[in-house]
Amino acid sequence: MITLKEALTKSQEELDALKVEMEAKARKSGLNAYVGFESAGEGVPILIKDNIQVKDWAVTSGSEILQGYVAPYNATVIENLKAKGFSAFGRANMDEFAMGSTTESSFYGVTRNPHGEDRVPGGSSGGSAAAVAGGMAIAALGSDTGGSIRQPAAYCGCVGMKPTYGRVSRFGLASYASSLDQIGPITQTVEDAAILYDALVSHDEKDSTSSDLPIESIVDNLNADRKLTIAVIDNYVAEASEDIQNAYADTIKALKKAGHTIIHGNMANTKYDIATYYIVATAEATTNLARYDGIRYGNRQEGGNLAETFTNTRDLFGDEVKRRILLGNFVLSSGYYDAYYLKAQKVRHLIRDEFNEIFEEADLILSPVAPTVAPKIGSFHDPLEMYKSDMYTIAINLAGLPAISVPVGKDGDGMPIGLQLIGKAFDEQALFDGALSLEQVINL
Ligand code: GLN
Repeated sequence: MITLKEALTKSQEELDALKVEMEAKARKSGLNAYVGFESAGEGVPILIKDNIQVKDWAVTSGSEILQGYVAPYNATVIENLKAKGFSAFGRANMDEFAMGSTTESSFYGVTRNPHGEDRVPGGSSGGSAAAVAGGMAIAALGSDTGGSIRQPAAYCGCVGMKPTYGRVSRFGLASYASSLDQIGPITQTVEDAAILYDALVSHDEKDSTSSDLPIESIVDNLNADRKLTIAVIDNYVAEASEDIQNAYADTIKALKKAGHTIIHGNMANTKYDIATYYIVATAEATTNLARYDGIRYGNRQEGGNLAETFTNTRDLFGDEVKRRILLGNFVLSSGYYDAYYLKAQKVRHLIRDEFNEIFEEADLILSPVAPTVAPKIGSFHDPLEMYKSDMYTIAINLAGLPAISVPVGKDGDGMPIGLQLIGKAFDEQALFDGALSLEQVINL
């Protein structure tokens, strides 16, 4: 598949032919990466995750409860894309309401990994990553609440970038956990990710958490020769598989050779990341998902009275979503609020402080994206096992930082390995400069 950079030089006829080709390839493949093939007109086609509103398109967040719901307006990112010569094309499969790490919980069925069809593509933006990696999309949008852009990108061997919280508007993104969610690009190259990132960023009055800090083009200032100080967190990697640890060690060597300075940092609170994230995320999800009651959106299952209609309709949620609604209500309930929710908020601050301390000396942090390569479909039998696989991605969302996942190699079975660079809040320039350099040293 041509890159985004190349696509920007093509005529509309060529792009239209490409759309036909992408649709035919996606329909023929057994990956189930696309759940719709709508087109929003002229421009370089970008695949859109099924939780971002595109006017007049169905938007269902991979859920049965939203069947029949059509978006009445465009998300701000869709308007921004349009203004920069891009257009929405196709719907990408995802875990229901972006809750998951495998894209197995979608109403539309599981998406498969193009590098091994018995493997998951990661999640929740698994459709976006599988389509880009499988040559069925030039580039895609995903959303990242706790790793859902970076982890599928790593499992599928493409680039996935999560912006600083507040840098990209959330207006028109179906909320999962509002203090963590960010939309970002999934692409074939680091430069493509920078091009798409530039197109997404804006200050948006419609999103009260949107930042009004000045915006400068990343692509225009990309500099792979910039020498950066990169921190490695030694106690962080010990829990990753041997393949990931080896890739990490090799990458450190390559970065040193490229002239970057490597320093060693430590993070003591990482053992609390998963608990903190799953308290904060489920608490916010419970509140956000209260709106799906059969009255306002999509599918309604009538009952004999209003309470029954609510119950019947909300029974359309899948098991994982129900589990999280129950968990979220529990941690917010009056008897447990202080013990769980309030404590999690305090730990969240400690996690952020730890990152800030490292960033006093470092420009970037290098970390695994996931403890293993993409697991086989159906291999998580216990939800906690799946939650644990988020150990390297979720702290970044808790701290609101930008991060980018870059492919650095493959294991013995040919499954991609990705590592991530984490940046200071709003220093996306250093993040992309470092990522471009990493991509270059890996390809040497
Ligand atoms: N796997 C994490 C979760 O299930 C992250 C999902 C996401 O980033 N949307 O919550």
